[in-house]
Amino acid sequence: PAAPATNFLRQRIEHDLESGAFAGRRFAGTPGDAAHHGAGPLDEARIRTRFPPEPNGYLHIGHAKSICLNFGLARDFGGACHLRFDDTNPEKEELEYVNAIKEMVQWLGWSWGDNLFEASSYFDFMYAAAEALVDAGHAYVDEQSADEMRANRGDFGKPGVNSPFRDRSAADNLARLREMRDGRHADGAMVLRAKIDMASPNINLRDPTLYRIKHAEHHATGSKWCIYPMYTFAHPIEDALERITHSICTLEFEDQRPFYDWLLNQLADLGLLARPLPQQIEFGRLNLNYVVTSKRKLRQLVEEQHVGGWDDPRMPTLVGLRRRGFTPASIRAMVEATGASKQNAWIDDTVLDQALRADLEPQAPRAFAVLQPLKLRLTNYAEVFGSSDHREPCETAAHPHKPELGQRSFSLGPELWIEAEDFVEVPPKGYFRLFPGNKARLKAGYIIECTGAEKDAAGKVTAVLAAVIPDTKSGTPGADAVKVKGTIGWVGAHEAVAAEVRLYERLFTEPQPDAGGRDFLEFVNPNSLRVVQGFVEPSLAAAAAEQRWQFERHGYFVTDRVDHRADRPVFNKITGLKDGFAK
Ligand code: ATP
Ligand code: MG
Ligand code: MG
Repeated sequence: PAAPATNFLRQRIEHDLESGAFAGRRFAGTPGDAAHHGAGPLDEARIRTRFPPEPNGYLHIGHAKSICLNFGLARDFGGACHLRFDDTNPEKEELEYVNAIKEMVQWLGWSWGDNLFEASSYFDFMYAAAEALVDAGHAYVDEQSADEMRANRGDFGKPGVNSPFRDRSAADNLARLREMRDGRHADGAMVLRAKIDMASPNINLRDPTLYRIKHAEHHATGSKWCIYPMYTFAHPIEDALERITHSICTLEFEDQRPFYDWLLNQLADLGLLARPLPQQIEFGRLNLNYVVTSKRKLRQLVEEQHVGGWDDPRMPTLVGLRRRGFTPASIRAMVEATGASKQNAWIDDTVLDQALRADLEPQAPRAFAVLQPLKLRLTNYAEVFGSSDHREPCETAAHPHKPELGQRSFSLGPELWIEAEDFVEVPPKGYFRLFPGNKARLKAGYIIECTGAEKDAAGKVTAVLAAVIPDTKSGTPGADAVKVKGTIGWVGAHEAVAAEVRLYERLFTEPQPDAGGRDFLEFVNPNSLRVVQGFVEPSLAAAAAEQRWQFERHGYFVTDRVDHRADRPVFNKITGLKDGFAK
């Protein structure tokens, strides 16, 4: 991988390592400690980061940013990065997502080693922490309704109002918390809240909820619990138990940081956690123009069938980008190129295409493909080659700068497929390809002279006619005897491999389809997929799924990992040779 760009996260970690902020990091040895959960012994000088997805959907390009940052920092600083499933919310989570997330993290090139965790495995510790907070007078059971709680929370510039249940004794609160845990109350009847400050200018510190009642089965803990911790309570504890040093998250959690610190310090004071504690550091989300990344909106695109599924090649999900043909290296390079900052950044979607080209240009084999086929008849073929059954072998390099990739071979016959746009009856200025009376080179073959065209009753061109000019074969001494300005790609009709080719454009017609509360579905591009039946050169007949090529003059293509079969080839266009969709 390229040298990592210096960014504020790296500077922060360098500073922490130099100042010994995490030296002497020890663990309290409580039942909740990470060693107990299998984290293994910690080298005190190392950093630990984590990628903590909620297994409630497929990962998207924004998650790739978080994955590459967290795993990348751990790699660069000789630390460890945990993969932690943040599965504290029952009902919404499914095993299907857990497996898909693991697969995509690995596909991106990262490994969590032994550091795979599930937040639900800390439920016992979290509950014990809740009781300890109650005991110490830092938490209470609130029986206000959800509406009352909302009304009493106040607003910006307007302090909240204390709950009438705020000043019960610790013993009272403990008894009620246990009733909650034991299933004696209905969903919504009461919650456990931190006791901090209802007048705090930071609304997140106005006695945030720690636990709620939810009589629901959990995919990992079954019916053991009917109360579940809130994300804001669970997440700092997960980080601390796993001895995370730098808890890197997106900017919307900035206002939660004071609570993160409050909670961990209380638990450390109570002897449940050891210092130094993890530190939350926020960075700006990755947003791409012409792309939406909210899971809810992506789900809508799938469920309302604007796309074929989560792995539709137009989706910004990692499964979609993979199927489209993007390489893991190109996604990592895009993340690297866009760095990490304290601002939410809007990045042009072409940055990803550029990274793909930079990755594939030096390695992808070249091939001829004809996407809008037009027949070309070589009218003097039998005269020049002795028989119309003769096949004239031709070859060219698989890659112009990579001789080690070898040669591609194919052959010339009396009928070829060429791109429809390689012929015009009346040439515009600067057009050097085929028009009556003009000469052009069949790439890696002969120079031909266009003599005319056949047309149907409606005047539509059905075949182009041309004559081969003898002794002009590429790579032979006569190749330069005739000068031409135009070169065209071609596939012999006798050996062309018929293929379905899926041509993609952006899924949205607007750079920010969900900005300003607009309905993003109004901006779905009706032309985002165009399927054509084309021909590819015979060397691609045995293509396996997920192989990539540069189709000369067209761009980069991949065999579809779902639908491609040797007897029914399917190619996806990844991106063109240049930015923009015009040819
Ligand atoms: P969504 O908001 O789309 O539902 P999420 O943020 O809730 O996604 P999680 O599974 O909770 O999804 O996210 C896992 C991690 O990925 C979090 O640390 C989150 O901050 C990070 N992440 C999600 N989207 C982006 C993004 N666009 N840019 C950077 N990081 C992101
Ligand atoms: Mg989330
Ligand atoms: Mg979110």
